[in-house]
Amino acid sequence: MALANIKDRVDDAFGKIIDTARDLISIPSRNPPGEERRCAEYIYSNLKERYEHLYNVVLLHKPFEHRPQVVMYPKDGIDRVRVVLNGHIDTVPEGDYNAWHTDPFSATIKDGYLYGRGSVDMKSSLAVMMHIVDILQEHEASKSIALMFAVGEERAEGGTYAILEYMKGLGLKAKYGLVLEPTALKICYAQQGALWLRVKVKGKATHASLPEHGINAIEHAARAVDALSKYADSLRVRAYEECIPRCSVTMLRGGIKENVIPDECELVIDRRLGIKENHEHVRKEVEELLNSLRLDYKLDIMARRDSVLIDKNSHIVEQLYDACKELGIDTCYSCFPASTDNEYLVKEGIESIVWGAGSLENAHAIDEHISIKELKYETYALALMLARLYSMNLSL
Ligand SMILES: [Zn+2]
Repeated sequence: MALANIKDRVDDAFGKIIDTARDLISIPSRNPPGEERRCAEYIYSNLKERYEHLYNVVLLHKPFEHRPQVVMYPKDGIDRVRVVLNGHIDTVPEGDYNAWHTDPFSATIKDGYLYGRGSVDMKSSLAVMMHIVDILQEHEASKSIALMFAVGEERAEGGTYAILEYMKGLGLKAKYGLVLEPTALKICYAQQGALWLRVKVKGKATHASLPEHGINAIEHAARAVDALSKYADSLRVRAYEECIPRCSVTMLRGGIKENVIPDECELVIDRRLGIKENHEHVRKEVEELLNSLRLDYKLDIMARRDSVLIDKNSHIVEQLYDACKELGIDTCYSCFPASTDNEYLVKEGIESIVWGAGSLENAHAIDEHISIKELKYETYALALMLARLYSMNLSL
């Protein structure tokens, strides 16, 4: 398919994409509490009505019975699928409603931007996914892609993992994947992992008028905070592309009364992993640091997400880069600093990247908004990349 053709098709479909994005934004799907159901049902009905002749459209009641996900794959064989497109239905809550300049669920368009909770992260891209088959029309790519609309991404609840298990059971062998999270159209073939640690620093309680008879857990925890901050500075040398390993103390809790020397202080550490760091090594590093301060403490892992890295020479990376360049899109290779469900796709051996319109800074913010022009360029490049990837003579 020639570039000019693709641009015409996108131009024709783009009004519908914006309408769909506005519909999706107007159906709240906040997580917490995990209210994706109505939005999932909208996606399901819409896809089923338009694509039932070509595709199986499924409401998947896993991993949560009352929070269905949506999956679409070719009727005549899931083994034809070369590329899977992934997005999540849930959004973070709107936060302080009164701080918004427009209703977060009214999907207002102003000065070339679409406003609303989920406009960037990531309902506008879900709308692009929902129309991509129409745009590709008779091209092979239009008959053999798979779409995943996952729940529970914002709280790492494994929606995409459950979809992959389901599709593997049906015989999915996709080689490439794309998670359409907002990267400002930078091609992220790597993604930072994270480790969350809880440290309980122990002390000894006593009357505050005689502090020398006790051990002040808050003062000891303060030494740890100080040391962790210096440790964070030392991590910069491990940066990879834009992914800098980070270490921040994000919660601190201690003390029971104004006149009691506290016997416990709890701190929570958010540690963003470098691309080549692993959890075990990082946990040991933090333990060694705390040991060097001679603290009495207990450390627990609260949660973790792995870093992701795929081959920069993968066809999907190359084709997307070329498509962007051809369209005059200002892009580059990059590393995504936050966790996404791409972790699950890459773990399945799928060469999968994160790429999409809109910036991450805007994602969970008040007055979240996306540039409509940038979304159109996302659609152009996505369609061109898919057409090219399916035209290549590759063995699956
Ligand atoms: Zn997201």
